[in-house]
Amino acid sequence: MLDGCTPWSPEIAEEYRARGYWAGEDLSGLLRGWSRAHGGRTALVHGARRITYTELDRRVDRMAAGFRRHGITAGDRVVVQLPNVPEFVTVFFALLRAGAKPVFALLAHRADEIRHLCELSGAVGYVVPGEHRGFDHTALAAATMTRCPALRRVFVLDGPVAAEGFVALSDVDAEPAELTAPDPSDVAFFLLSGGTTALPKLIPRTHDDYAYQTRVTAELVGLTAADTYLAALPVEFNFAWGCPGVIGTLRAGGTVVLVDDADPDECFDAVERERVTVTSLVPTLVQLWLDAADAMPFDASSLRLIQVGGAPLQREIAERVEPAFGCRLQQVFGMAEGLISFTRDTDPHETLMATQGRPVSPGDEIRLVDEAGARVAPGGTGELLARGPYTLRGYYRAPEHNSRAFTPDGFYRTGDLARLTPEGDLVIEGRIKDVIIRAGNKISAAEVEGHLLSHPAVGRVAVVPVPDDFLGERICAYVQPVADAPTLQSLRDALHDLGIADYKLPDRLEIVDRLPLTGLGKVDKKLLAKDAAAKADALRKD
Ligand code: AMP
Repeated sequence: MLDGCTPWSPEIAEEYRARGYWAGEDLSGLLRGWSRAHGGRTALVHGARRITYTELDRRVDRMAAGFRRHGITAGDRVVVQLPNVPEFVTVFFALLRAGAKPVFALLAHRADEIRHLCELSGAVGYVVPGEHRGFDHTALAAATMTRCPALRRVFVLDGPVAAEGFVALSDVDAEPAELTAPDPSDVAFFLLSGGTTALPKLIPRTHDDYAYQTRVTAELVGLTAADTYLAALPVEFNFAWGCPGVIGTLRAGGTVVLVDDADPDECFDAVERERVTVTSLVPTLVQLWLDAADAMPFDASSLRLIQVGGAPLQREIAERVEPAFGCRLQQVFGMAEGLISFTRDTDPHETLMATQGRPVSPGDEIRLVDEAGARVAPGGTGELLARGPYTLRGYYRAPEHNSRAFTPDGFYRTGDLARLTPEGDLVIEGRIKDVIIRAGNKISAAEVEGHLLSHPAVGRVAVVPVPDDFLGERICAYVQPVADAPTLQSLRDALHDLGIADYKLPDRLEIVDRLPLTGLGKVDKKLLAKDAAAKADALRKD
């Protein structure tokens, strides 16, 4: 396995193979098989573009050879930052076929996050969209190249490639070459952690574990070649990429429809036009869709399933999904680190509305523990720990963090608080990790605090979530100023100028003389979160 990653023990690996979870499938090899099985069928749709399985496989072969010609070799890491376009899929499989390892960045990431991802992964390549929604990614790439000497090549989807080291993605093309197939037990690609630390962590996903995750989730969703999946969420999210998402749909021989935006206008049109059967959304988006469907009815008769997850789903919203869209709702609780839990089609109404279901694999092991690490009594709430055939054993190049994030026997500490119903279904009750979930995006409080502290007017700072009816949570910063108090706008501008993604900028600012401390001398964030919630509530009532 790639250096810097934590492998499963040989005994556990053997067990996962013996039980049929790990089938020795390499993801790019799987594409070859899908192309043989479903050749002329449509694999990808984007606007007026339609790409068959045969075309996809052929393009991937040529692009893999092209990447090699441009100096990308086996084991190299390549940061991929693209919108929901067919090239995301092509680039992913082509890098895998060339033996390289894609590192998924969020499209919203800016200079600070990209530099960190490049440094941490030691990336030699970076794939960017050119200009996207008014932002010049090639300028960002050029700046990143000067700061990260290992970065040699930037591949541009569209736009100018005049600079040294820049290559148009359309020129990543060569006669297909005989390439050694990747080892299924090795790392295939990296997902980004929604983590708790000041600097985001990388999650290594192996061919074996991801192939299994997509197989087991596709089976549970009952995907077949007759299905059409709408990729409305950014595909770099694990939820949209592999739960079962894009990869699960392709392995079933179905069609993936990629849209640029999850907004109702574009998505309702795509559902009608392409007869979409399945999609996945975060709660904020499902709420947006529900409100829009009231105002502009559309033909949703093809939809059979909407998966909702990534953030807590309010009961009232859950209840509206089936009547509004005439399809099933599936609650999904999951994480890029691994563990996924689904409600099932056969579940009673109450389970569908009020729980996050059961882990998807019989190989998933979960435990609920108290602060001392002891198991909670049946029905009690505790921190959820997880271990299994698609749950990581360690973040990439993070030995110190790993010693805290995992138990000695390999369970991942999710930081989520959960309980189990008598029927064995998970109910997510909250979290102990210092993370804000805003419209499904995960924001590490420590990361934002670190950036805010670099502002000259900020003496001390604590960042907490504040409840929001639509976004779920917003970001509230409590600041103890040095002298003159900063304004919210000045802090947002400063963070923006530092190259921080916009979704992490604080939404609210509270100026305090002194941050409250706990008996142990730490900032009392629980008290601050309560205060923020009370203030938001008072504002709402005004
Ligand atoms: P990510 O890896 O970015 O998908 O984030 C995973 C985290 O999102 C989990 O550890 C939870 O904190 C949160 N999460 C995911 N699904 C749900 C859900 N259905 N309800 C509540 N929180 C969720």
